[in-house]
Amino acid sequence: MAVYQATATPKPKAKETPKPKASLANGVQSLSIQETPKVKSKNIDVISEFKKIKRKNAANFVVIGHVDAGKSTLMGRLLFDLKAVDQRTMDKYRKEAENIGKGSFAFAWVLDQGTEERARGVTIDIATNKFETDKTSFTILDAPGHRDFVPNMIAGASQADFAVLVIDASTGNFESGLRGQTKEHALLVRSIGVQRIIVAVNKMDVAEWSHARFEEIRQQMSGFLTGAGFQPKNISFVPCSGLGGDNILRRSSDPRSSWYKGATLVEDLDLSEPSTHALDKPLRMTINDVFRGGVQNPLSVSGRLESGTVQIGEQVMIMPSGEKAQIRSLEVDDEPQEWAVAGQNVVLNLTDIDAIHIKTGDALCSATAPIRNVREFKAKILAFDHLTPMNIDVHKGRLHVPGRISQLVATLDKASGAVLKKKPKIVQPGTVVRVVVQLDEAVPLEAPSRVVLRSNGETVAAGLVE
Ligand code: GDP
Repeated sequence: MAVYQATATPKPKAKETPKPKASLANGVQSLSIQETPKVKSKNIDVISEFKKIKRKNAANFVVIGHVDAGKSTLMGRLLFDLKAVDQRTMDKYRKEAENIGKGSFAFAWVLDQGTEERARGVTIDIATNKFETDKTSFTILDAPGHRDFVPNMIAGASQADFAVLVIDASTGNFESGLRGQTKEHALLVRSIGVQRIIVAVNKMDVAEWSHARFEEIRQQMSGFLTGAGFQPKNISFVPCSGLGGDNILRRSSDPRSSWYKGATLVEDLDLSEPSTHALDKPLRMTINDVFRGGVQNPLSVSGRLESGTVQIGEQVMIMPSGEKAQIRSLEVDDEPQEWAVAGQNVVLNLTDIDAIHIKTGDALCSATAPIRNVREFKAKILAFDHLTPMNIDVHKGRLHVPGRISQLVATLDKASGAVLKKKPKIVQPGTVVRVVVQLDEAVPLEAPSRVVLRSNGETVAAGLVE
């Protein structure tokens, strides 16, 4: 690729490159001008560079559970104890919270930045937050508990390496949570491919650190989670109090908790296996956000690289538009870098493309091995509701597209995947089924993408593209 470097124009220009008049004589030359990238690629062997660096494991996780289980408080506590928020900010939150008579919400505010949400005391938006232990740098993809916000949760869960399920252990609340979102969320994350789950049995202070209560919850949840397809070795339980900070970073000093000898939440988080992201596969990223109009970077996109690598100067393709763009510069976890690999959260600053060709939910991919646009796909899904051939919306991360289940191909055994019944007319909630989905528009989708099907504002199924 030395040719590229030799002919590259030294600086990116805002103006259009003047196109030479077409003639036989300059035909070849005009071709080479158009092929000339505006930003030099150093043609770095990214995979071998990446392997040379001894770096921390990076993990993204989603926080799920019933509304009021204490998700925001727990995560706020985690960020505070691990020094991702400073004491002064925390004191400020505490004072503000006390002023409106909601003192205990101070921790939750670490995650909820908007004053409107604060006044109402509910988490409404997806917030991404980072913290580090000695071994791992984590990104929390926060998930709110309210029903209407399931699409946000899906966006988070579709990028998660594992899930933290927060359960309110206090009397009656665990049971009502089970009837509420606890099970729905757990099923949802499993069916879109999340394999590991850490159950934070929270508010143990309210449950008086009762060992019996913890065991009761552990048994019920283990039964449910293994039934949902989580392997026992991938399920763990930590009794804790987010509010008091017990068994989060430091071990609980409450004498009533002395029966617990297991890991703290942070120790458990650190056990997450290094993610085995596909580095040698073609570049894929779902665009989470598009920002326009910066002076330095007129067009930038953010997201998490699902597979492959990317570097400055590389040409990429945006789907479904099929337009090419060039990487002018990039950031990994807010730091400027020359390259990035699968699993990392990046901002890519693009050049050579018009903003009209890019939107949230689009796929950014290798220009040489692009993802294909499809109008129909097969998927193995878990039904949350009765399913028949019906209209649905397909969600993949931030991608939403209307379509329909055109065929129920067969119901499948949950554990083995073996065909149980061909061409059912209708399937019951809780069934795993292979379906054919047709879409109103062609969109970039390929196996094994995690997808969620919704109908009338309810999640009706979730699963993997085959
Ligand atoms: P979310 O809806 O799951 O995010 O729940 P929040 O974090 O907003 O917490 C809901 C309520 O439970 C708030 O009043 C919290 O102060 C309270 N809470 C959260 N964690 C604990 C805990 O460990 N112990 C006690 N006693 N209360 C808690």
